[in-house]
Order: sequence, then structure tokens, then C-alpha cells
Amino acid sequence: MSQTDYTRQTHHEFLVAAEQALDDPKLQASLTNLGDTLAQRNREAWAAFPQSDAVRELARQIKDETLAHLDEYLEEFEVSVRRRGGEVHYAADGAEACTAITEILRSRGVKKVVKSKSMTTEEIHLNEALEAAEFEVVETDLGEFIVQLSKQRPSHLVAPALHLRMPEIHELLSGDAGETLPNTPEDMALYARRRLRADFATADAGITGGNFAIADTGSIVLISNEGNARLTVSLPRIHIAIVGIEKLIPKFADLPVFLKVLARAATGQKMSVYTSVINGPKLPDELEGPEEMHVVLLDNGRTRILEGPLRESLFCIRCGACLNACPIYRNIGGHAYGGVYSGPIGAIITPLYDGLVANHHLPHASSLCGACQAACPVKIAIPEMLIRLRDQLHAEPGELGWAEGKAYGLWARSMRVPWIYRLGTWLATRTVGRLSKNGWIRKLPGALHGWTKSRDFPAPASERFRDWWKREGEL
Ligand code: SF4
Repeated sequence: MSQTDYTRQTHHEFLVAAEQALDDPKLQASLTNLGDTLAQRNREAWAAFPQSDAVRELARQIKDETLAHLDEYLEEFEVSVRRRGGEVHYAADGAEACTAITEILRSRGVKKVVKSKSMTTEEIHLNEALEAAEFEVVETDLGEFIVQLSKQRPSHLVAPALHLRMPEIHELLSGDAGETLPNTPEDMALYARRRLRADFATADAGITGGNFAIADTGSIVLISNEGNARLTVSLPRIHIAIVGIEKLIPKFADLPVFLKVLARAATGQKMSVYTSVINGPKLPDELEGPEEMHVVLLDNGRTRILEGPLRESLFCIRCGACLNACPIYRNIGGHAYGGVYSGPIGAIITPLYDGLVANHHLPHASSLCGACQAACPVKIAIPEMLIRLRDQLHAEPGELGWAEGKAYGLWARSMRVPWIYRLGTWLATRTVGRLSKNGWIRKLPGALHGWTKSRDFPAPASERFRDWWKREGEL
């Protein structure tokens, strides 16, 4: 397995997948519905939280400081977990993490595993590895359970089944039940609840991710709206948490800062419904909890990113707000991106984890409008990083076509030589402007036609600014 075994797409496959998504009215309705709702809630949550700017800035600073001393915090976390009776395992990549988890489960005679939602386990394809080792694996987040039944990938960081409509969900759940279920959301949820409760009661091990890992207490923090993470941790006799090393925060006292921004960014809630702080296995005088707890700390390319100019991408707390805000994601959905992580942050971290040239279409899947950064709880400079990735790509041999290279060269020259720039703008108003209708051009000629395939091009103004300025007498 590579560092991250993504379902890679070529540029052409990406374009085809994007066009298919645009032509799918059901998907378009789902994207508009949920995207509008969540993006609106995000904006309202920031507006109703007077200190939001300062708290988001503080969250950024904590992340920055943690990454600057990550080695020390990892050591502190390991000591804290062991002090509370837990075990820590380090995994350099996805294959090592899957092997470590499989060995823990095998050596303890585990047959059935329940899981709560975790993008990190998606990243390393843990379910496939566990199923290949003949463990029964059941996702217990309702959206993830539905996605598992559909044998697809999640299409959103916090709403994994966003791409599925109610009739499809009804068919999947009825197929699992072996009978046609009543066709109401309540009845379908009730079926899933009963089915999953039985799985919780009979599972030998529970696997979770971790929203945060706290160095000074050795705690794993799990945030959910369904309570399934809490059952995953407390009912089976073994708990395994797999956590990317960037999820560390130094102190328990830092946690409220992130709790304040995470739910607001993700769903517009002041707080998520369940916040569970897991502090090791059950103690001798406790009635509930696992007998064993293991934390698998995953690198999988993160230390490489840490040393580079795009380390800020490791600030991400996987809230999904940038996806809901992004005009590209909201039109093509998550699956078109090809990787486990989609949307603006996926367009950065997939190339970083899996190779830039192999994923060269992703940094271009953005209008650079900045809506992602405005929505982000830790204000990650996503557009700036996408531009940096594009720049790196252009330095790769063969990435910039001959015509594109010449066009950029000409553009750069015209910006440096005033008379060429003047001539260019004069020609644009007299030639390109003629193709326009009501200020828009429906079809660009030649190699530029791709631009107008699914949108219009704004026509240049009929008069150049410099001519207007001269005529108005420079005020
Ligand atoms: S980049 Fe920011 S907005 Fe996007 S998922 Fe990460 S934390 Fe959320």
C-alpha cells in the first residue's frame, strides 16, 4: 500500500466525474439542500458569536504552537496515556497502522468490530484491511452505516451520505433488513438504531478516530451528534483510537477553545450533542468501559508536510465548513475529487499526501474566491496554498503545455511593458467585446472554448478604464 492508497483519478477522469455530477439532478438537489443549510448556519454562528474572531485566532495559535513542538507533545501524550493504563503505537503509514490494529484484534480473539465515524480510518482503508483479515466490521454513525451498505466512499467530512437521496437510503436499509421497511425517516432511523444496538452489545472491539488528543492528560476527545462514539468506546472490551499526529493539543485547558469553534463551523450548533473525553481503560472500581485501550498515532506523510511551506494544512480540524462554502464542491460533490478528502482542504492534502503530479487537477479545482478561508474555524489560508501548489506544478517538467506556457509568457511581458499592455486592452475591447451579448460571452473561440462549456465569460468593458479616466479629466 502506498502512504495513502487513494482512489486516484487522472485529470480526464476528474473532468468526466465532475460533468456527471453536474448532470445528476438528484445529486445537485442534495448538494444545494445541505450545502445551503450548513453554509448559512456557519455564517449565522460566526455572526452570533461576538468573540468568534479572537477565539478562531486563538485556535490557530494553539495549533501553530503545537506543531512547532510536536515531538515534545507526542512524548508527553504517550507518557500520559501509559500512566492511565493505555497503550500507544506509532504508525509511519497506513499499512503499518492497519497491521498494528489487525494484530491487536487477532491476538485477543476478536471477531466483530464496531466503528464510529473516522476520516483517518477512511484515509488508511482500515475497513478493507479488517475485512480482508476476516473481521466483521460495522459502521455505527448512521450516515457511515448507510455508506457502508452502499459500498461507496463518504462524500463529505461530516455528512458522509450527503450524495444519497431518501429512496436510495430506503432501499439500502430495506435490503439490510431483508424486508421492505416503512418509508418514513423515523422508521428507517428506528430500524438502524435497533440493528446497531445489537451490534454494540455483541462486538468485541470498538474503533474510533479522535477529534483531539490531549498531551497533558492523555485523553482522546470524541465529538458526535448521535452518541454512537460513546457506545463504541464503552460497550466492547477493547477500544482502539486511531489518531493523526496533527490532532494533538497541549493541554486540557485548550479544549474549550476548539469546542467553541468546531460545532459552530460544522453545523452551526453552539456545541455538538455528545462530547466524550476518554481517559484510558476501565479502572478496577469502575463498572463500565473497555478493559484495554490502545491509541495508534498515525504519521502517513504528516511529518513531511510539517517541514514544508504548507504546514498550515495540518491545522485542519475536519469540520467540513470549507466544503459547504466552496462553489466547486457544491456543484460537483465529494466523489468527483477522487480522494478520501474532498473540497478545498482535500484539494490541498490529497496532493500533499499522495503526490502533486499524480493529483495535478486538484489544486485547479477552485475559483480562489476565498469563501473556504472565511468559513474555516482556524482560518487556514486555503486559496494561498492552492496557488502555491499550482506554482509548484508549473515548475514540473511537462505540466505546462506549450501554448499555455507561451500565453503566460506573453501575459507576463505585457504586464511589464506598458505599450504592449495598452495595445492588448485596446484590442480586447474591440475584438473580444464584439462577441458579447448583454455583457456576457456565450462561446469563446478555439482553445478557450472549455471555459464557456458550462458557464458564460464576462465580456471586457466597452471602454478601457484609462480612456474613461482621460475623458473624465482625472477628476
Ligand atoms: S480546512 Fe478549515 S474549514 Fe475546511 S475542514 Fe479543515 S478546519 Fe474545517
